[in-house]
Amino acid sequence: MSSPQTGIEWTDKTWNPTTGCDKVSTGCKYCYAEAITERFTQTFPQGFKLTLHHNRLDEPKHWRNPSRIFVNSMSDLFHEQIPLEFLEKVFNIMNETPWHIYQILTKRHEHLLKIAPQLNWTDNIWMGVSVENQKYVSRVDYLRQIPAKIRFLSCEPLLGSLKLDLTNIDWIIVGGESGLKHRPLQQEWVEDILYQAQKANVAFFFKQWGGKHSKAGGRLLNGQTWDEMPPSWKRHLQQWKANDVKQKQLSLI
Ligand code: SF4
Repeated sequence: MSSPQTGIEWTDKTWNPTTGCDKVSTGCKYCYAEAITERFTQTFPQGFKLTLHHNRLDEPKHWRNPSRIFVNSMSDLFHEQIPLEFLEKVFNIMNETPWHIYQILTKRHEHLLKIAPQLNWTDNIWMGVSVENQKYVSRVDYLRQIPAKIRFLSCEPLLGSLKLDLTNIDWIIVGGESGLKHRPLQQEWVEDILYQAQKANVAFFFKQWGGKHSKAGGRLLNGQTWDEMPPSWKRHLQQWKANDVKQKQLSLI
């Protein structure tokens, strides 16, 4: 089975058991997922309307290489209209495929916290919230209450300076907006978050400056790339190199 490779630097593959969404905050203004659904109408006949894809649920079982999988790059897994029953199915797949790491990102922190006790948070599930400006910093307090092994922040598109409490946070991704109407990123905002991350011993990933297109401004911050990952990613790869994924797969299919 072919696997959807991605240009997103902090992940290996995307898996979209749902597509479509509704805008909830400032960071959604120029949502790339919406732009993609509008551009590729044959692939997304439902447009940006929230759509469940039952036929995609099994996909990660067939991907043999241990991978970082970004869940719902084209949607928000904690959208209030996704039935609990469907969400449980998504979590079941993640629970059954421990050779992958799943990276989930939401802007729906309240719904996440409400529903989290009903889900099985195995160690291979990383949970993150978006924090685009100071107004949404409270999402981090909600995230801290989620029993995920790794908790992370996506400050992309970063739209202002941030003062963060990084207690029990493992990883921060920072990036600027891309697209014709992108809102510019200021270097001092990024440097300040890097400083806070280093002080708190949190892995820091600088994705891009942004611009008219995602690669326009490059990825260098003070002359270097910042591609740090939580240390458990390296350990995960070492563990699954030693284990036989194939055996585990065969028991599932
Ligand atoms: S929550 Fe994410 S997918 Fe949904 S509209 Fe906002 S940016 Fe787009």
